[in-house]
Amino acid sequence: MSQFIVGLTGGIGSGKTTVANMFADLGIDIVDADIIAREVVEPNSAGLAKISAHFGPNILNKDSSLNRAKLRDIVFKNENEKNWLNQLLHPLIRAQMINQCNLAQSKYCILAVPLLLENKLQSLVNRVLVTDCNTNTQISRASHRDKNSAAQIKQIMAAQLDRETRITYADDIINTELILTQIRAICENLHQNYLKLAN
Ligand code: ATP
Repeated sequence: MSQFIVGLTGGIGSGKTTVANMFADLGIDIVDADIIAREVVEPNSAGLAKISAHFGPNILNKDSSLNRAKLRDIVFKNENEKNWLNQLLHPLIRAQMINQCNLAQSKYCILAVPLLLENKLQSLVNRVLVTDCNTNTQISRASHRDKNSAAQIKQIMAAQLDRETRITYADDIINTELILTQIRAICENLHQNYLKLAN
């Protein structure tokens, strides 16, 4: 069981998944908040039942899955509904993150949470690892990957911490402007340090 948890965070397109995959290659268990956020509203979950009771059955697709676009549209336009949804989902996601970290088998585990700092979840982790690159690099990488427009990505970035503030919370920072072989070497160094800290 992993007693030592490294929180991995960073802005959109800053390289979190890339770095998480490198730690996974080193045999480290990754707990991914984005995956958990989908699991807590999957068909037949308690979370989805509460959402459909609150918003009505029209919030579901024909196959009983959540109509995310519709839900996003509702909460985008209505602050009260957004708060209601966050109050439902945040505790479910938090409990599941703790649960999966407890189940992790590696000497330490990585808890990857894009909004770790924005949602003030630092108390869940022993150490904060931040992926950091220029904002222009973030925009070009994120837009290249998702086919989102630069405007959409800038909008998402505006709702996240700015780089300077984010790195003040970091115990370790990976500069993701570097090439992947250099990043891999940095991950291996951090890995050795985390193994020591976990002991
Ligand atoms: P998001 O927050 O949008 O989920 P992320 O922080 O997980 O993004 P990644 O998906 O790891 O970021 O990286 C974004 C894109 O940039 C990917 O296509 C990835 O392959 C590429 N990328 C990441 N790091 C590098 C690098 N050092 N050099 C070149 N490309 C990179």
